[in-house]
Amino acid sequence: MDHPENDEKYIGLTVNSGVAQPPSVNPYLKRHRRKPLPTVGEMVEGIVKGDITMLSRAVTLVESIQPEHYALAQEVIEKCMPHSGDSRRIGITGVPGAGKSTSIDIFGRHVLRDGGKLAVLAIDPSSERTRGSILGDKTRMEKLSQHPGAFIRPSPSAGSLGGVARKTRETIVLCEAAGYNNIFVETVGVGQSETAVHSMVDFFLLIQLAGTGDELQGIKRGIMEMADGIVINKADGDNIGPAQLAQAQFKSALHLFPPAESGWSPEVLTYSGYYELGIAEVWDMIDRYFALVKENGYYERKRMQQARYWMYETIDSRLRSHFYDNPEIAAMLEDRERLVLSNRQSSFTAARDILDYYFSKK
Ligand code: GDP
Repeated sequence: MDHPENDEKYIGLTVNSGVAQPPSVNPYLKRHRRKPLPTVGEMVEGIVKGDITMLSRAVTLVESIQPEHYALAQEVIEKCMPHSGDSRRIGITGVPGAGKSTSIDIFGRHVLRDGGKLAVLAIDPSSERTRGSILGDKTRMEKLSQHPGAFIRPSPSAGSLGGVARKTRETIVLCEAAGYNNIFVETVGVGQSETAVHSMVDFFLLIQLAGTGDELQGIKRGIMEMADGIVINKADGDNIGPAQLAQAQFKSALHLFPPAESGWSPEVLTYSGYYELGIAEVWDMIDRYFALVKENGYYERKRMQQARYWMYETIDSRLRSHFYDNPEIAAMLEDRERLVLSNRQSSFTAARDILDYYFSKK
């Protein structure tokens, strides 16, 4: 068929009629379909043997939003539990640009210098990074990602903070069962995610920058209070002086906090992730922390508290979704919300009616 644009008033522009699309762009694509899911037994066996493919598949299952995957993932986690726990879980936070990727790249290689394995996980509920961007994370931590002992996994894709955090927490269990005795959990230090990370790690490292003159500004007291170590990055070149000044300021600010339950006094150090300066000192601090808390029993106690926290957290989130995902409840909520907003029913009566209906269905 001739195109209207082939009219002479469009001199110079010729539009050819298209070609029919082939039925499939790549007729061989079918061959690349995912293999069927392994059984729970196969997955657990593979994970415990340290098989990275099985580990990745199990993590994908944990991250899945499909209800049947949830049940399967829980079974795998349950069976991996007895093999997990023996590790150092370290949370690393800092605002974007603080140098987290650069630092994790070198911290990770430092940790692996004498062998062992390291899993780098992340909690970033706002993350636009999804499955395809694993490559993105690999380029962020270029040298580390080539290390045979490193397993780098981006944040579960965007969702509620609680949901994203729970998935990361469950992934820790799987990684430990696969022999990863060092776990880094990275988070962007801008919101609530620090609290979530704090609830799953043994040591919490806060990366800061110097150079603005008012370093303490904008750092929430709560985040500083959670930190077991504050490290000031980019202490190189002209920035060494400002970094040392920031170090002094953070040190005096920390004096204002009450002593920590761990018996550990948080330390403030300077380093340069890029030029790989002061890395051993940062790690020496972390080693000393673990020696202390393993000796005084806090390590175990904190893990127990965290296990309890996650039990209640999981109950809360499942109860909520059981309630809110029910289509009848959703319709009722919409209806009652209208009544409440137009002052025809009180909030309390509306809530009571909906809950009464929900419980009557049990
Ligand atoms: P992230 O957003 O926290 O992951 O930060 P990146 O690791 O991507 O670093 C942000 C920028 O700071 C990059 O351009 C890095 O090259 C730079 N950077 C990171 N660490 C250092 C350091 O120790 N010294 C200097 N001068 N620059 C650094």
